[in-house]
Amino acid sequence: MSKENIMNTYGRVDVVFKEGNGCKIWDVNNKEYLDFVSGIATNCLGHSSLVVLDAISRQSKKLMHISNLYWSDTQMELAKKLASLSHHERVFFCNSGAEAIECALKLARKYGKIKNKNKDKILYMKNSFHGRTLGALSVTGQKSYQKDFMPLIPNTIEIEFNNIDDLKENFNDSVCGIILEPIQGEGGIINVNNEYLKTARDLCNKYDALLIFDEVQCGIGRIGTLFAYESFSVVPDVICMAKGLGGGFPIGAVLGKEDIVEAFVPGDHGSTFGGNPLACAVSLAVLNEITTNNILDNVKEQGEYICNKLNKLKEKYSIIEDIKGQGLLLGIKVSVDTKEFVKKAFEKGLLLAGAGQNVVRILPPLNVKQKDIDEALILIEEVLKEF
Ligand SMILES: *Cc1c(COP(=O)(O)O)cnc(C)c1O
Repeated sequence: MSKENIMNTYGRVDVVFKEGNGCKIWDVNNKEYLDFVSGIATNCLGHSSLVVLDAISRQSKKLMHISNLYWSDTQMELAKKLASLSHHERVFFCNSGAEAIECALKLARKYGKIKNKNKDKILYMKNSFHGRTLGALSVTGQKSYQKDFMPLIPNTIEIEFNNIDDLKENFNDSVCGIILEPIQGEGGIINVNNEYLKTARDLCNKYDALLIFDEVQCGIGRIGTLFAYESFSVVPDVICMAKGLGGGFPIGAVLGKEDIVEAFVPGDHGSTFGGNPLACAVSLAVLNEITTNNILDNVKEQGEYICNKLNKLKEKYSIIEDIKGQGLLLGIKVSVDTKEFVKKAFEKGLLLAGAGQNVVRILPPLNVKQKDIDEALILIEEVLKEF
């Protein structure tokens, strides 16, 4: 196998995977790993989930793709399902997280322009992550990702996450939208504070701007509620989703309030693959599974279980500074090099991911069983002993 033909954009771990089942995954040398990364919060029902496999098999034999020149039954059904489960009415489908962000940014700009031609500023958070396209990068508050791609989209303004004064100072009538992750994922598993959110909601109401939640990582059951916003005290105008939405199959979506998304008219936005019948059928099956099979209860239960165990480890090992997160979006804040931590875990057969400067992310599938968690905790303790 040759790696030479792949563009050099990722710092990858030196392993080639070939097969997975549930929480387990095997490399080409048949070494087994416990996968607590889940394709970065994407394979929410584990590898080779029968729910996903069955939906792919059923729908791929019927209709995979038709473009958005026409209507499809599965797209309408999925939209209806998302609307029925949320406080929102309308959906735009795309294929990834960054694409969902692009749609939300364009919606905010169009919404603003209808009110007044100078209403075009978008506020975003320091330390945030919204994806790699130029639009998403323009609202990603990490200089290391932005610096080589300047100039980015103008009138995007970075503010301090959870700093109410900074929010108030930068909010005015020229703002058309504000975007934030209810829990910053890549940035290091950092929760938004409720008071901050309420202020953001009030300011959006006062100045008629859109409150956009990026739930790409923390949504779709990851923190114990189907939508992340249900775990907080406000309802956003627009929600961006992807990752877990397809259970490993690529799909993204933007969910919005009726009176807001009517800013978009035919021709304003589109995606050839977006909302194709196959992706929608898979996503519908995934959502049905999450909302009817006690998966959300499992997320809360197992999340608390891991947290308790990790907090016990924290008392025993001084390199653990904090246990962060909610549900199954968890992080261990450590005083050592997280790359080293992740590497040691990998060598022992446990997949974990880094986040921010000093957090090790734990993202098992939402249907993870306690015995898999126990196995992971043993390996984590072995890693801790080595520091
Ligand atoms: C992963 C991620 C994105 C980008 O999603 P892609 O599918 O990689 O484009 C955007 N926002 C958040 C919060 C993410 O975690």
